[in-house]
Amino acid sequence: MKITLIKKLKIQVEKLKKCRKCPQMHPPSVSGKAVLSKVLLVGQAPGDKEPKLGRPFAWTAGKTLFNWFNRASGMNEEQFRSSIYMAAVCRCFPGKQAKGGDRLPSPEEVRSCSVWLKKEIDILKPDLVIPVGKLAISQFIPLQKLNQIIGKKFKTSKAGQSFELIPLPHPSGASPWHRIEPGKSLLKKALKLIVNHPAFQRLEKNGI
Ligand code: SF4
Repeated sequence: MKITLIKKLKIQVEKLKKCRKCPQMHPPSVSGKAVLSKVLLVGQAPGDKEPKLGRPFAWTAGKTLFNWFNRASGMNEEQFRSSIYMAAVCRCFPGKQAKGGDRLPSPEEVRSCSVWLKKEIDILKPDLVIPVGKLAISQFIPLQKLNQIIGKKFKTSKAGQSFELIPLPHPSGASPWHRIEPGKSLLKKALKLIVNHPAFQRLEKNGI
């Protein structure tokens, strides 16, 4: 019997939650809901609160991110989580670095965890991908200054799938980029591009 896409995605999410491949990472791994969506959001890595709360963007950065979307489209956090698939470059909390702040995942950890993202792209075949923050953006296009890429739309591909990419800055309080000009206006432009994208518009037409 042919396995349905949603079943495939649910199996994928369950497997991901059990992954313990990286010895330096702090389990458990964190995944969003198994939502069959044509819009895929890719964050960097969970912080220390997300594994306890069991969902991505569950703390202050998430509050900012969901506020951005609420202001741009009227979509609230629950609607967002139920209609957009939320992935990340790494799905486990990397731990703190000695000088403060979260440790940046190593290239090897990024490589190991990319297997999950590729499988998700293969199942979802997204029309729109929203990478959040430099690490996520660099998984799809060469990393440039945020001023040069935020507020723009790119055509790209990964895992054999072509899609449009609209990058966002990271909403964490660590960087003031999105709160001062030109970041403020470029962020507004990027959100406008996202909410006017046909894939996002279809979410709204489906009652989200
Ligand atoms: S970071 Fe990714 S590959 Fe590494 S243990 Fe967590 S889920 Fe597995």
